[in-house]
Amino acid sequence: MKRSGLKVMTRLVSLVKPLTGRMILAILMGVAGHICAASITILGVMAVLQLLGFSGWTSLTVLFVIMGLAGLLRGLLRYAEQASNHYIAFKLLALIRDKVFAALRKLAPAKLEGREKGDLIAVITSDIELLEVFYAHTVSPIAIACIFSVLMTAFIGSYHVELGLIAALAYLVVGVVMPIMISKLSGSRGLEFRKKSGELSGFVLDSLRGLDETIQYGGGKARLEEMKDRSIQLANEDEGLKRRAGYGSAVVNAILIGFDLMILFAGAALYAQGKVQFDGVLVPMAALMSSFGPVMALANLGSTLQYTFAAGNRVLDILDEVPVVQEVSGQEEVAFEGAQTKNLSFSYDSQEILSDLSLEIPKGKVVGIVGRSGSGKSTLLKLFMRFWEADKGEVLLSGRNVNTINTDNLRDMESFVTQETHLFKDTILNNLKIAKENATLEEVMDACKKASVHEFIMKLPREYDTDVGELGDTLSGGERQRIGLARAFLHNAPFMLLDEPTSNLDSLNEAVILKSLHQQHDDKTVVLVSHRASTMGIADQVYSVENGRIS
Ligand code: ATP
Ligand code: MG
Repeated sequence: MKRSGLKVMTRLVSLVKPLTGRMILAILMGVAGHICAASITILGVMAVLQLLGFSGWTSLTVLFVIMGLAGLLRGLLRYAEQASNHYIAFKLLALIRDKVFAALRKLAPAKLEGREKGDLIAVITSDIELLEVFYAHTVSPIAIACIFSVLMTAFIGSYHVELGLIAALAYLVVGVVMPIMISKLSGSRGLEFRKKSGELSGFVLDSLRGLDETIQYGGGKARLEEMKDRSIQLANEDEGLKRRAGYGSAVVNAILIGFDLMILFAGAALYAQGKVQFDGVLVPMAALMSSFGPVMALANLGSTLQYTFAAGNRVLDILDEVPVVQEVSGQEEVAFEGAQTKNLSFSYDSQEILSDLSLEIPKGKVVGIVGRSGSGKSTLLKLFMRFWEADKGEVLLSGRNVNTINTDNLRDMESFVTQETHLFKDTILNNLKIAKENATLEEVMDACKKASVHEFIMKLPREYDTDVGELGDTLSGGERQRIGLARAFLHNAPFMLLDEPTSNLDSLNEAVILKSLHQQHDDKTVVLVSHRASTMGIADQVYSVENGRIS
């Protein structure tokens, strides 16, 4: 979704709320700091005027003392302002990361299934990082520039209204018109750049994952070419953005000199007409020249603002994304008493995957599910997990629609072993314990015995403390699958959903696992998806997702 810059800005600013007090403090210190800086030049000019014999409002000594103090204060205030701004920015980044992770948790797994992971990583890392620019170098500088420019306009205007008007015009052009124009000129290039950079991350990640296939089919050269192409494109985009920023700052500098001359000529003309004293020519000019700092900061923002808004836009996209299913809480807890579907229909997009499916899964039984590849077996299990919601009909547990069962309650009742077991880069023990955080080693070993993987683990160099590498790289498909099953046994939920749990196993290991499942018959209910006749042997009844009940 593309939001306007203003909209992104207001949304991002609304996140500052918890730190409003500190933000105001930072702004006040910033204004005071700039006043000190400008006053050094202005007082300097006043001192020179006194030396030339013009009378002043105070003695030379006092002027020099104030100048010294202002110099000192300027440094301290600048430091305090920057420290506050960065404190605010990094606090907010932590807060935003927290929000993004919470949002992702809600979106998972349904909304993340089709999403590019590299792009997501780019949002979580670099996009959020870029918002630092917004919070530390955009919000308070805008406020500081506004307040400071109003004060300076009043000061310069106190010499003569016309001079005040020139100053006001100068601040407006440099601080408002220029940033908007520079930002408009870069158009949606910033957004494009962020998007392309996310896509490149995705491409690299994809290439790394598919390394085996690339080598096998000799696609290395083509992949490399494409990566080079994309990098060059990205560099070009970046160059374009930077070039515009360069042009912008050149134009801004020219405009500044123009206004300096304008106020000098205006002052001289007023002096000739006797409307101001001699100091009324020099002091306003010095004041204007020394007060462009804050608005200049805004002018330079024009180009970086594009990146910032693009990054903010992408972060907001995630925060605003509506999850497929909402978490349920506050309902009465239920105990597992069997499951069923009633006239269940479901489609991911337009094509219907499951239609009008009704099946019974009585407590304590093993129910087999068959169907050709792509017929919707895994989808059915995901509907029992409530990863997705039914389009029509109902999915029921203990007679209650799953949409009205507390999400925690539902997860406690179910163990889901997916077709592909994911292992985290960690030890085997920790990989197993995700199924039950406070499990004892005995419990873990017991579950592994049931899943026929205990002996294998005991033969590893560090037994249960062996690292499995990223994505479980160091284990075979069958070993991973058995660890997935061990997790399910450890989780010890009354309702087990097993998606092709034995597809990668030899008949010996399969026999052990089927025996374990059979032994638990009394307190476990199992939905078993499998193509293998030997596995289906333990099923009490078998359904086909394509044409209803078979036996
Ligand atoms: P297999 O035996 O090969 O595992 P399956 O019966 O488990 O097949 P499902 O994984 O349930 O099949 O998929 C059913 C159909 O839905 C497939 O055509 C698949 O391409 C499609 N599908 C699965 N997940 C999604 C998704 N997130 N978005 C869109 N379509 C999907
Ligand atoms: Mg499947």
